[in-house]
Amino acid sequence: MSDLLPGGADRKRLSVSLPLLLRPRRRDARPPPCRRCGGPSWWNGWRETFPVVATAAASVVERWQLALPLGKCSSCHRAFTCYPPGFYPRRQYQLDVVADVVAAVTLGSEPVGHVAATVTASATSARRWTAWVAALTRAGELVAAAAQVDASVATVALPPPRDARHPRAAAVLAGFEALGAALARVGVAAMERTGLGRVLGWQHRRHGDVYGLAGGHRSFSSAMAPGGRPTTP
Ligand SMILES: [Zn+2]
Repeated sequence: MSDLLPGGADRKRLSVSLPLLLRPRRRDARPPPCRRCGGPSWWNGWRETFPVVATAAASVVERWQLALPLGKCSSCHRAFTCYPPGFYPRRQYQLDVVADVVAAVTLGSEPVGHVAATVTASATSARRWTAWVAALTRAGELVAAAAQVDASVATVALPPPRDARHPRAAAVLAGFEALGAALARVGVAAMERTGLGRVLGWQHRRHGDVYGLAGGHRSFSSAMAPGGRPTTP
């Protein structure tokens, strides 16, 4: 699974076509309290990661060598990783990179392999990301959540272009853009540039939810958006 975040020996699987940018090690004086029991925690080393991240310009990516600080609870002994803002767990290719590729695959006319190559990914990964986005949720649920987050702006679900290569993924991606824009309008800060990145990144920071490619499908729930309520019992 080349799009999962590798560590250690898996590093050799990474694309070598991008220079490795070493990021400085950063952590607070103390780790945050334990998320499970609220107990005090202590720093317990670092984990090296090698993510591919989006820059401000779409389809321009960087490969980082990034050490993530590890914490451990002194009460229940739970070990955890502290992620910097804008960093999504268990992803070699970060969410803005994935969103840019899926947008180009679904709406563009370039061959999928060419689109994937702009971020040093394979066509297989680009197709897997597209299927993953399409299966995450329904576009209508995202648009409804956007209206609940920011009722001052009427959000309309636009149908994807008739010639979209993957209409469902295109519609879901547009729904994430609508909800991401609504979150930004009500003041939810985000480092991410795309709607997919903002919404899933915010859910991770707020609730600890991670929507992974592997380990079975987990559907996004807009009930966790601020002010959002479950649409089904
Ligand atoms: Zn604990």
